[in-house]
Amino acid sequence: MRKKTEKSTALEGSGDMKIMDYMKRYDYEELVFCCDTGVGLNAIIAIHDTTLGPALGGARMWPYQSEEAAILDALRLARAMTYKSSAAGLNLGGGKTVIIGDTAQDKSTGLFRSLGRFIESLNGRYIATEDLGTSISDMQHIRAETTYVTGLPLAWGSSGDPSPMTSFGIYHGMKACAKAIFGSDSLQGRTVAIQGFGKVGSHLARHLRYEGAHMLVADINEEAIKRAVEEFGATPIKPNEIYSVDCDIFSPCALGGIINGQTIPRLKCRIVAGGANNQLGEEKHGDSLQQKGILYAPDFIINAGGVINISVELTGYNVDLARTQVAEIYHTVEKVIALAKSERISTARAADKLATDRIEEVRKVRRIYLKK
Ligand code: NAD
Repeated sequence: MRKKTEKSTALEGSGDMKIMDYMKRYDYEELVFCCDTGVGLNAIIAIHDTTLGPALGGARMWPYQSEEAAILDALRLARAMTYKSSAAGLNLGGGKTVIIGDTAQDKSTGLFRSLGRFIESLNGRYIATEDLGTSISDMQHIRAETTYVTGLPLAWGSSGDPSPMTSFGIYHGMKACAKAIFGSDSLQGRTVAIQGFGKVGSHLARHLRYEGAHMLVADINEEAIKRAVEEFGATPIKPNEIYSVDCDIFSPCALGGIINGQTIPRLKCRIVAGGANNQLGEEKHGDSLQQKGILYAPDFIINAGGVINISVELTGYNVDLARTQVAEIYHTVEKVIALAKSERISTARAADKLATDRIEEVRKVRRIYLKK
């Protein structure tokens, strides 16, 4: 698998879509366009890589402004899933579905059943789960047409809401970072600044409270802040001040792209460890954090708890097994830190290397077998 920076693609905003070039550049396997005018389905399934196993990834519904934007989102998100599952040691590949539509107006049983038939036609190469704009009940409609779907109701033997496991993994990843920086993985007395007190942020707070950490919390939602203060004794911080507060650990649990040229100079933390996807504005910002002496826990390594949880569902869900596997994120973070040190690269680049090396290793073994 080759790694190239996002900059060198001609896909985004150019009006000149070179989809095949983009797919070749990043080694994509398949892009499926799903249209069913009878039910208003316009969806794209991107399968990035199935070397390690079936491509697992959410089915997202969003009113994309253009087909180009939808295709690019599906492609990028599918590749991110390949990296996340590979680095987590799962036998899964990366895929994603994007449904172009407005969740308030365009959802119907027929639409999701139709998508289910498209997923079924892929014969298990792609497994769907819920994502932004889709819910458990949407997954139930897909399930009427295919078994290649997860994120179903708990009563159906499913793993339920992934957020608690995502936060449990972030907590373990944070502890591994604390060990590397402070010499002890105890978070007692540490100050953690949390950006975003939604599902992930609030479940994380339960673990931090248990450890005796002090929490500074910023959210644009007043209700979320009220809960953080009343239930967890957190100190409220204005959303635009969260980057510059004095703290040991900054934990982004809201938006992507927030580690960038504007925010890095303001950071006063020693560690960045949070659940938000795609935290780095660009790959080079991982290097900037390293140069500033801040340890970055790569997002797809420490927020993999949700996908690890779902992977357990695929073989018969067992919550204890899921927790044990999610807690392994501690050791994965340690591995990333060690690799970054030995290769003299940032942890962000080390995480990418960990993910791609595992896939290359399996490909190499396959090539050897094919020659025999
Ligand atoms: P959520 O919608 O429940 O919570 C997000 C919170 O961030 C909300 O309370 C929102 O008000 C707040 N927020 C939005 N903009 C903000 C800003 N500018 N400043 C401060 N707060 C702001 O979402 P979630 O499920 O908790 O997910 C949080 C992040 O973690 C997302 O990036 C998501 O993609 C990622 N993630 C979530 C999971 C999961 O299992 N839920 C798994 C992997 C990654």
